[in-house]
Amino acid sequence: MSIDSIAARQHLVDDRHYKYRGCAPDPDNPRESAADPDVPVDAWGPYTDDGAEAQRDRLARERAAMAICGRCPVLALCRTYANTTAVDEQGVEHLVEPEGILGGELALTRHRALIARRHAATVGDTTAAAAPGPAVRSVDDARTPQKLAVLNALAVELYDERVARRAGMDVRTCNWHRSALCNLLGLDRETATRDELLLEAVRHGLLPATTRIVWDGLWPVAAAPTTDGARQRRIAPGIPAVLLTPRPRARRTARRPGVLARLFRPRALFPTALLAPTTVLEPAA
Ligand code: SF4
Repeated sequence: MSIDSIAARQHLVDDRHYKYRGCAPDPDNPRESAADPDVPVDAWGPYTDDGAEAQRDRLARERAAMAICGRCPVLALCRTYANTTAVDEQGVEHLVEPEGILGGELALTRHRALIARRHAATVGDTTAAAAPGPAVRSVDDARTPQKLAVLNALAVELYDERVARRAGMDVRTCNWHRSALCNLLGLDRETATRDELLLEAVRHGLLPATTRIVWDGLWPVAAAPTTDGARQRRIAPGIPAVLLTPRPRARRTARRPGVLARLFRPRALFPTALLAPTTVLEPAA
């Protein structure tokens, strides 16, 4: 294990919520997960590809395990650890956890992410060497007040309208920031989910490690343009639309005096001259 991996694992197991992790064995029945007695702890196990497990069964168990990961209090820390790497004797970088489901991700997903990071690093190196012109955009570009507001709003809101409102901007601007954040954090805008974006933000210190992320079922985070480029598809086609209407203002209606009050108004009974003179308060000299 690399030093990063050891530190990340330590960080995970030291977290005070680690004992409540979804994949922990039930103390009374160690074969069942503590989160759901219908999901065995083996559900997080590796894909053996030996034909012993029917594809339908495998997909069902992976779905069940990942759904529990989605509610796990140490999801961000677990995913950070699961994506750490080490370099072997041949100088090849590999995942320290190459098998099974960890941090809500299949092993295949983590391997693909590693390959994408390697590719991005290679392309980035080549581009920087070939054309050292404009500054290379980095995670630091994501530390603007607007982007941090969007990330904080995303952590607690699911619907794009609500995210935008909480971030203090209109939906279109908010969606633009969501797409830009995907680019800055090295995610694919077409496939990245809100959950992935938030976990990357935690990994890069844009959000605190203790951020609780409301699980939304893996909808894409960015509203990528359609092929004609004329408009944007909805961020989450499967999510119900939410209509946000402004809160009605409290009506300020003058109360009409009652019949008795109108009959016995002082001015109706007494001439104006007999009423007490109005006191005028002069400002202090
Ligand atoms: S995120 Fe998933 S794999 Fe990681 S500790 Fe939680 S339940 Fe277990």
